[in-house]
Amino acid sequence: MQKSRANLMNLERLRHQAKLIMHQAQRCSATSKRTGKPCQAPSVRGLRVCRFHGARGGAPTGPANGAWRHGLHTNEAVAERRRLNDLVRDAKMGLRQLFGREQ
Ligand SMILES: [Zn+2]
Repeated sequence: MQKSRANLMNLERLRHQAKLIMHQAQRCSATSKRTGKPCQAPSVRGLRVCRFHGARGGAPTGPANGAWRHGLHTNEAVAERRRLNDLVRDAKMGLRQLFGREQ
């Protein structure tokens, strides 16, 4: 009886000493500019930095962004206009070469 009670107390002590899974998580690799020491916050899963040090990836894009107006100047719209302008320029050049007109 006395021995099993000692075993239980020993187990309880071990349980307190054991690290929880959340404490074993990979730590943030960022360095504090205030203290010069490592951040040590748990890093976001799959990344090397914590949520305070750039793991969230900035503002939403598209209509979800508060600065969205009409989409005229999105990267996709600008690229589409450039492709179209390239096509028109090439077509004009081809016509010029075909008909020999300088203009
Ligand atoms: Zn951090």
